[in-house]
Amino acid sequence: MSSNNQSVYQKYNLKTVINTSGRMTILGVSTPREDVVEAVNFGLNHYFEVKDLVNKTGRYIADLLGVEDAVVVSCASAGIAQSVAAMIVQDNAYRLDNLHAHAHDVPSEIVVPKGHNVNFGAPVGTMVQLGGGCVREAGYANECSPAQLAAAITPKTAAILYVKSHHCVQKSMLNVAQAAEVAHAHNLPLIVDAAAEEDLQCYYNMGADLVIYSGAKAIEGPTSGLVIGRKKYVEWVKLQANGIGRAMKVGKEGILGLTQAIASYMTLEKESGQQMVDKMTAFIDNLNTLDGVSAKVVWDSAGRDIARTEITFDHQKLGITTEHIVERLKNGDPAIYFRGYKANEGKIEVDVRSVDAAQLHTVYECIKALF
Ligand SMILES: *Cc1c(COP(=O)(O)O)cnc(C)c1O
Repeated sequence: MSSNNQSVYQKYNLKTVINTSGRMTILGVSTPREDVVEAVNFGLNHYFEVKDLVNKTGRYIADLLGVEDAVVVSCASAGIAQSVAAMIVQDNAYRLDNLHAHAHDVPSEIVVPKGHNVNFGAPVGTMVQLGGGCVREAGYANECSPAQLAAAITPKTAAILYVKSHHCVQKSMLNVAQAAEVAHAHNLPLIVDAAAEEDLQCYYNMGADLVIYSGAKAIEGPTSGLVIGRKKYVEWVKLQANGIGRAMKVGKEGILGLTQAIASYMTLEKESGQQMVDKMTAFIDNLNTLDGVSAKVVWDSAGRDIARTEITFDHQKLGITTEHIVERLKNGDPAIYFRGYKANEGKIEVDVRSVDAAQLHTVYECIKALF
């Protein structure tokens, strides 16, 4: 950390953070590589014909990924809202200007498997409403088959939205290819929210018409989002720049930064799950020397090539609950953030993608100091 960065923490009286929770918005998501920083910097320092910039970077990204078209947006949430709006407005100038002025005589329901109607930090349904749509749930909290998805389709349906995420119910859920089959059998487009996913091609290849990614998560770009898909639909998304999209404008620096991040993401070898295991082995061995603490490697529940450390705390032996442990480490300085989704089961997960071995050792020392 350079002294210049250190001074930002001092200037605003901010705590330093060790992020072992993954790509989390509450911590700033990721820290882009130098080539991305340079692209952002170039963008900040020059003027462009922005429409041309949007179209040509979109073309460049689409060619890299082997998809029909692409557009950079301000974040994945904006991608969801504008994709929904695109399906309702299409290329109608009146609806573009008046999306929220009153109801329109066109389909506006978005069918979502009930187990996909999640809160990723904000509700999926809020983004659908922002896009002028209204969620209609298909199936049940714990299951959605192709038949159950199809049963929720009515003449009011504008599109199907599939959320591919660890936040979602995974069991007894239809896959993207099956959702695409249902959508196309009903002449409807399929939108896939794959915000945190790592594969930028597979959902499109499975038949999705629009796929949305978060620029700062797996791709490690600046704050931004990506929408890829069929040309006609991407064109409709672009039109939203003169509608609701204006309230979620992405700047030239974000467009250039994400485009560069995608180009290097597609060529650079990324940290493999096995490399993550190697990084965390000493950390796990250290934790296992602590009485009442046990640690092991676990693999990502959504099937991505991500290994994490799962730490289990024995409440009886330690005399403190896992929730309290998580809270104390968050409130420390540095603030240490874990994946706490299973704290209620006495378990936390450590994501090592954003930390080095020295920081992991600090985490170990801070845990040890609690007992
Ligand atoms: C992170 C996330 C989003 C939102 O992404 P932003 O780029 O932060 O708007 C949407 N959906 C899912 C499933 C996510 O994980």
